[in-house]
Formats: sequence, C-alpha cells, structure tokens
Amino acid sequence: MIEFNRVSKQYGRGGAALSDVTLSIAKGELAFLSGPSGAGKSTLLKMIAAIERPTSGSVLVNGQDIGQLPASGIPYLRRNLGLMFQPANLLSDRTVLANVMLPLLITGAPRNEAEKRARAALDKVGLTDKALSEPLALSGGEQQRVAIARAIVNRPQIILADEPTANLDRASAGKVMDALMAFHVAGVTCLIATHDEAILRGADRIIRLQAGRLIDTPAAVGETLPS
Ligand code: ADP
Ligand code: ADP
Repeated sequence: MIEFNRVSKQYGRGGAALSDVTLSIAKGELAFLSGPSGAGKSTLLKMIAAIERPTSGSVLVNGQDIGQLPASGIPYLRRNLGLMFQPANLLSDRTVLANVMLPLLITGAPRNEAEKRARAALDKVGLTDKALSEPLALSGGEQQRVAIARAIVNRPQIILADEPTANLDRASAGKVMDALMAFHVAGVTCLIATHDEAILRGADRIIRLQAGRLIDTPAAVGETLPS
C-alpha cells in the first residue's frame, strides 16, 4: 500500500534528512516509526502525503508514484489519508464539531450529512459530550482525539500520525492510542511516528530511523514481512 524505493530527501543545502530509504507497508498494517528527534520521521510521513517530495527515489501509495503526481492529483491522494501532524491545528474560533465537519464540507458534503458523520467520528474517539465545546477548553489528550476524529471523518484507507501522544500523561496517551488502535482493527493502515518507548513496547513492527537512515532490526516474532 505504501512503498519507499531508495528514497532520499535533502532540504536546501543542508545534509540529507532521509538517505536511501527502502520499505513497504502492507494494507491494514500497523507500523511505528521511531528514532530520535531529527531522524527524519516527519519528513518520511510528509512524503506520503506529498507535502514534501523526494530528492531521489520513489514513493508509491496504492501503486501511484507520489513524486510524479500533478498538483491536481493531490486532493485525491489526501482524501485517502487521515493526517495528524504536530501541532494539531484545531481552529479555536469554532466548536469541536465544526472542526471535525470541516474536511467533509471542503469536499462538498451537505451540512446535515457532514454533521452526522462528524458526530459519529467524535463518538468513536469517546468525545460525544464535547461536540459543542471549544477546542481550547479541552485537555491536551482530548484535543488529540479531536484531531483523530477530524483525520478519520473522511474514512481514509491510511492514517499517518506524527507524535500523537507528545506532551500527554500516560492515561491520556493510552486513550489516544486506543482510539488509533480501533481504526487499525477496523482495517485502516496506520503509520505512527513516536519516540514514546511505552508505546513501542510490544509493537509488531517498528521502523527505526537514525540520521535519515533505516536501522535494520530483526523482524518481531509473528511479524509478516511485506512482499
Ligand atoms: P523528526 O521528525 O525525526 O524529528 P524531521 O523529518 O523533522 O525529523 O527532520 C529531519 C532533518 O531534516 C532534521 O535535520 C531537520 O532539521 C531537517 N528538516 C526538516 N524539515 C526541514 C525544512 N523544512 N527545511 C530544512 N530542514 C528541515
Ligand atoms: P456507517 O458509516 O456505515 O454508518 P460507521 O461510520 O458507524 O458506519 O463505521 C462502521 C465501522 O467502520 C466502524 O467500526 C469504524 O470504526 C469502521 N471504519 C473502518 N474504516 C474507517 C475509517 N477509515 N474511518 C472511520 N471508520 C472506519
């Protein structure tokens, strides 16, 4: 579903943010991306969403080469992606519900349909009773769950989350991960960047990056290697 083939990325004249990365993520897989700050995790996620383009190599999503995608193809690509980048960028001048409705309204959904689906999405992340709150009145963990609801309201095939538990206490982080996990169990492919060791413990697949390079790790027990 996602394939990186010898991908390198250089910003301006700086060093390489990613060097010769080859990996593949199968449909329905849950994979974690780990590595210290500056390792290239965000850059890797951004390339899947065509926010950044590879300097060399190719990134394929559903067989489509993202680096070759014309600008007109980007909205179609992103419709298949649920994006959670840092910061969550919730709009503070409208309700939680309105924030979650936004992606649907942008793609032309009728208002009543958008509201119904946004409420269903809030329900799935356990925030039914916060629909009419303002985002800033919510805790950090609740705000992240609003970001999850907004990311999945379009029913994407893939969720990309960058440090979704950053700055959260254990209990809140657990709830955020449970919400993401529920979508994985429902069949959504998930790629989650984190350096939270508590989350990585017990993960089936961890893709480790250091200074832009993949670090080889033995396959975890029971891991199915993508073909
Ligand atoms: P991580 O998400 O693992 O912290 P990033 O992908 O954000 O890593 O960064 C990888 C490297 O690329 C770092 O050295 C960072 O400073 C650099 N970098 C990231 N974004 C930019 C940018 N827009 N312009 C220049 N350098 C960047
Ligand atoms: P419907 O829209 O058919 O009424 P729901 O929105 O209630 O159904 O979701 C049905 C199931 O689909 C839920 O268990 C939900 O978690 C799951 N699901 C699968 N993929 C997604 C996705 N990308 N976004 C949201 N829900 C999803």
